[in-house]
Amino acid sequence: MRVCVLTGAGISAESGVPTFRDAGGLWEGHRVEDVATPEGFERDPVCVYRFYDERRKSLGTVEPNPAHHALAKLEAALGEDFLLVTQNIDDLHDRCGHVRLRHMHGELLAARNEYGDVLPWRDDLGESDRCPTTGTRLRPHVVWFGEMPLHMLEIEEFLSSCDVFCAIGTSGLVYPAAGFASIAFHAGAHCVEINLQATGGPFHEVRTGAAGTMVPAWVDELLTEIDAEHG
Ligand code: NAD
Repeated sequence: MRVCVLTGAGISAESGVPTFRDAGGLWEGHRVEDVATPEGFERDPVCVYRFYDERRKSLGTVEPNPAHHALAKLEAALGEDFLLVTQNIDDLHDRCGHVRLRHMHGELLAARNEYGDVLPWRDDLGESDRCPTTGTRLRPHVVWFGEMPLHMLEIEEFLSSCDVFCAIGTSGLVYPAAGFASIAFHAGAHCVEINLQATGGPFHEVRTGAAGTMVPAWVDELLTEIDAEHG
């Protein structure tokens, strides 16, 4: 069984990382145009660096919740037949030891230079920081609105060949991730949504409730099915 999981900000909500849409379209009190677009960065880089510095620092106060841990259990059972795609820039999935994890919108714990080279980054990041190899300016390794998400070819290939697709804690409003359910659905996958409320996407099954409870239950059901398949 090949399983593709897409996660959004909702999976980290119970860990204490605020989601985005739930706060009236503001991200931690900021307009998206100001802190999550290339134009916002050009206009006021100091504000944008500070915004991501704060998000990076706050990772020190949060921990993965049962939903993150359950997905790591699923990867351990499925290996290469599993792909976890996250829109989140936090590192809560990483801390559960995933290998088959793709951060399509980048990562808070990384910076990149003007050529797109990525380097790990844990400290504050500012205008005076330079790439040690090229000497050029660094920016947060975050995909902003209007920019191309990462790993798209690999993700679309996996979506087209999976048997099960599950979208967890994502509002289904940010493209191209919002179109993943449709790709998997048309490729014949069984499509499941786990969210506090249904988003109206092309899902065969909608499980409403908090990810911290719903995801471990869904994973346990799937693991039972996988065990039965393997006799
Ligand atoms: P979103 O904020 O637009 O939507 C969150 C979704 O999660 C909503 O549909 C909500 O109903 C659901 N939800 C909230 N709490 C939940 C819970 N406990 N269990 C299950 N579902 C729950 O999130 P999005 O669709 O991921 O899009 C937001 C964009 O902002 C992403 O691209 C992401 O990069 C960025 N972002 C990231 C983080 C993070 O890294 N944790 C946090 C905020 C925003």
